[in-house]
Amino acid sequence: MTQEVKIHPLVSPWGRFGLYSFFIDAPEPAIVDTGIASSPAEGMAPALEKLGRRIEDVRWILLTHGHIDHVGGARALWELTGRKAKVVIHEADAPMLRSRRAHVDEYLAGRAQYLNDPEGEAKVAAAGNAVIAGEMEPTLLVRGGETLSLGVDVTVSVHSVPGHTRGSVAYVLDGQNDVFVGDAVQVHGAANGFPGFVDPAAYRASLRFLRDEVRPRHLYLGHPYRRTDGTPYGVELDAEQARAALQESLEIEARVGDAACACLEAGLRDTDSPYSPFAQVAQELGYAGDPTLEPSPFFTTLHGHRTQFTQKS
Ligand SMILES: [Zn+2]
Repeated sequence: MTQEVKIHPLVSPWGRFGLYSFFIDAPEPAIVDTGIASSPAEGMAPALEKLGRRIEDVRWILLTHGHIDHVGGARALWELTGRKAKVVIHEADAPMLRSRRAHVDEYLAGRAQYLNDPEGEAKVAAAGNAVIAGEMEPTLLVRGGETLSLGVDVTVSVHSVPGHTRGSVAYVLDGQNDVFVGDAVQVHGAANGFPGFVDPAAYRASLRFLRDEVRPRHLYLGHPYRRTDGTPYGVELDAEQARAALQESLEIEARVGDAACACLEAGLRDTDSPYSPFAQVAQELGYAGDPTLEPSPFFTTLHGHRTQFTQKS
């Protein structure tokens, strides 16, 4: 690559969360992740204008995974580009771009069974209606291993990094080793203070792959994830911070895994604890966050451990 390609974070606030997208200022400009329905018009367009760039010139919409705060704005952004941008997502997360209902099904199959909220299904459906701009078919389905050309000599490699979701991917700007991972690197989690992943073994393997093989020069995160002391990493990490965040994510994952295994081996018991049937895990980890707050990473992750444990035994 002859000239360094510039990266600009674009932030859209949403409740307790800061949603981050990234503008890749390539010959064919790209935006990584799209926030929610309102983000493209309210957050991205004015930010790009300040950079002297136009949202209608964006030619790639690169989705790191299918969660609503990453794909919610995809349809709106695609429309703003005159439907010219190519929309890219992993095939395993594509149902969450194609269908609002997929988000409800995901909720019901996982965390719902611990939340005992009779309104839960309706709330998740309402959130999907409110923050997903529209259902759509992706232009390009990926599985990892692809290389995308962003014009002239700028290319992006796609790597599969499952765990947070089954279809999480990392986009790597070749030559600069700038790496966009969305939520695949959780440290302690974002606003809920707990890391969320559906597949613990895959999450661990993906973190190791990023640390040992990809070795980012810059790592771009979907939210300001928190360290052990509660202070957030930024969303643009240099090589040293990236390594620290990956290492810390692995250490936290190991502690969660040990506590989950001990709890599952002792046998799950329903109690009146809000963390039931994983109260022992919360106690062992000293987790005092509200486990019922969406997207409820505590129950998502422990359900992942439970599923893995059941498959092994
Ligand atoms: Zn996510």
